[in-house]
Amino acid sequence: MKMNFECISVERRGAVAWLFHNRPEARNAESRQLLDELDAALGEAVANDTVRVIVIAGKGEHFSAGHDLKEAQSSRSAFTVEQRYAYEETRYFDYALRIWDCPKPTIASVQGACMAGGFMVANMCDMMVASEDAFFSDPVCQSLASAAVEVLVHPWVMGLRAAHEFLLTGRRMSAQEAHRLGMVNHVVPRDQLDERTTELAEKVAGAYPFAAKLVKRSLKRAADIQGFRASLQSHFDTHQLSHVSDEYRRMREAGLAAGIARGKGASGT
Ligand code: ZN
Repeated sequence: MKMNFECISVERRGAVAWLFHNRPEARNAESRQLLDELDAALGEAVANDTVRVIVIAGKGEHFSAGHDLKEAQSSRSAFTVEQRYAYEETRYFDYALRIWDCPKPTIASVQGACMAGGFMVANMCDMMVASEDAFFSDPVCQSLASAAVEVLVHPWVMGLRAAHEFLLTGRRMSAQEAHRLGMVNHVVPRDQLDERTTELAEKVAGAYPFAAKLVKRSLKRAADIQGFRASLQSHFDTHQLSHVSDEYRRMREAGLAAGIARGKGASGT
């Protein structure tokens, strides 16, 4: 059964399924509906035997500027601790880990802003191709009095030293710097992003599918043996603590807009 999506779009290109964030007017902010649709589309692509590789991308100028904070403010500001925990566990943590654990190879194709929640989703993919104008940031320690995003993938993709600076300053990281740190596989001109992502996806799609699944499983297990999953689970709880701190409450009372402006000042963006 084919589902109708409103916040994402799905395109089949040969053996590759492209899942696009598709709210360009909102910088592809990840609303509840967008995340539900992305998770459903991922499930469909996994279930379809003719799909060999899955690309996660964004329509328009940006990959994604992160979670939809306007929606969060209007619909979830009165959440109890239990309700917020349940919401973030399902939609942020579990959905993200389903991308990480997806049995088929995945590639993030990133342009423009790849921030906070968007950064989290992109970094759940196995490989990343970024355009020269792409930039990464997770400014919430500076802006929203929060302990990073819900899934602390940062030290695993950029290294511990860089992760400290990235998270504590909230600054932007360019595609070139991300490439140098090993977080991005290839940096390409903006007008070649689709083409270069396709090139990589088709190459990967040519691998024997069961062998590819096993290679991926072994690589993910290599991370798990080093504590990947346990450290992410641990951080999720720590992140929840930051949502009930006094400084978080004061930030909320002053308004999310003031927090975001404060983050921008700190990161020089
Ligand atoms: Zn959170």
